[in-house]
Amino acid sequence: MAISKKPNIIILISDALRPRDLSLYGYNKETDNNIKKIASESVVFCKNFAASNASDPSINSIFTGKYPANNGIIHQHPNMKDEEIEKLKKNKFWLPLYLQKKGYFTISATPLHMWFKKGFDYYMDRDPKTKTKKFLNIQFVNKILLKLPSWVYSLGKKVIKARASPYFYSCKEVVDLAVSKIEESKKPFFLFMHLVDTHCPYPGSNHNLMHGEKTIDKITSGMNNFQKEYVKKRFRDMSVNCLEEVIERRDNAIREVDRQIGRLYSFLKDKNLWKDTIFIIMSDHGDNFGEHDAYFCRGGLYDSSVHVPLIIHLPGVKSGIIKEITQSIDIAPTILDFSGFKKEQLDGKSLLGLVKGKKGFRKYAIISDGFCEKRIAVRTQSQKIIFSDKSRCYICGATHGAEKELYNLEKDSDEKNNIYKENNNLEKRYKKFID
Ligand SMILES: [Zn+2]
Repeated sequence: MAISKKPNIIILISDALRPRDLSLYGYNKETDNNIKKIASESVVFCKNFAASNASDPSINSIFTGKYPANNGIIHQHPNMKDEEIEKLKKNKFWLPLYLQKKGYFTISATPLHMWFKKGFDYYMDRDPKTKTKKFLNIQFVNKILLKLPSWVYSLGKKVIKARASPYFYSCKEVVDLAVSKIEESKKPFFLFMHLVDTHCPYPGSNHNLMHGEKTIDKITSGMNNFQKEYVKKRFRDMSVNCLEEVIERRDNAIREVDRQIGRLYSFLKDKNLWKDTIFIIMSDHGDNFGEHDAYFCRGGLYDSSVHVPLIIHLPGVKSGIIKEITQSIDIAPTILDFSGFKKEQLDGKSLLGLVKGKKGFRKYAIISDGFCEKRIAVRTQSQKIIFSDKSRCYICGATHGAEKELYNLEKDSDEKNNIYKENNNLEKRYKKFID
């Protein structure tokens, strides 16, 4: 399906956006009118899985087309080891650099970390706007702040009206920048966009002290002290009283992201660019709002953490719905295949055959945990097996599951009933993934 002209390419990641929170995938609230409009002109992948539950390893796996263990980056910043970064540097294939060499104008609109800069002609940097925010963004200051008891943290936040998490651009600012850079481009462009509004704490915080202590105490009652403090801080970061308010804030954040995506789509249509643009809407990982007793943490490899939306508009390809298992590492090979570029040695596979109606794409997805020492999941259509060293989650301090877990997804799609003990003969079959 190679096309004569190089297509423009947009990969848009809305952070921590879960399919279950979009009406396109069955959510009972309308959060995504524009995304649905785009989906009606695209291929919608229903069972797409990130290679990791954490942003850094997940996005690196998209750019390398390889699983975290094979590209180097397994753990989320700041818990990745030096050797992980060294291994990443040795990867021969890096999508932005590859496209830059193919003559693309490469634009990055992401507030993530330094090594993502490779291969980009333009890179939108983190931009703390005030001296206070700059100070709060220094990593060790950040770490100290997060270690304070939650009431001190809350009071401090009220006084200086800032939160410990770094400042990020709003989705409107990112789309403004994207539009201006596309207008500037004299070549086919590759635009990587990362919208963080859909990652908690959500926009709209008014820095009030929290009133709903009792509700929060109830939620955190069974947690260890570390986890308790973590969850309370997240509630304070958002200035909310209960989980319902969090959900409302999250849904509104999704609506705003949807509006901005709609604005970008209209711009592409107006400029007659849409018909020549591969437009990919996706996420890097999920999140938990009480699922598996986790709050605002993606630790653990349950679908709530790793099932991500994937919507791909391919010029000239008719819309469709794909129910087979796919992974985000398949995106780079798909772009190469569609553009008629040479195949590379990657873990991912081109989705074009699947889009054309071929069956039997992937039997399983492999996913690793970026928030603890070692945890890996193998997910098929009907089951998921998870092995781990049962180490504590770096973010929230919970253990997120047992050492060995098995779920029958046909009967138990919420992954609540661990049936490993009754089926421990499965270990042999999955051994190759664990080593
Ligand atoms: Zn956690």
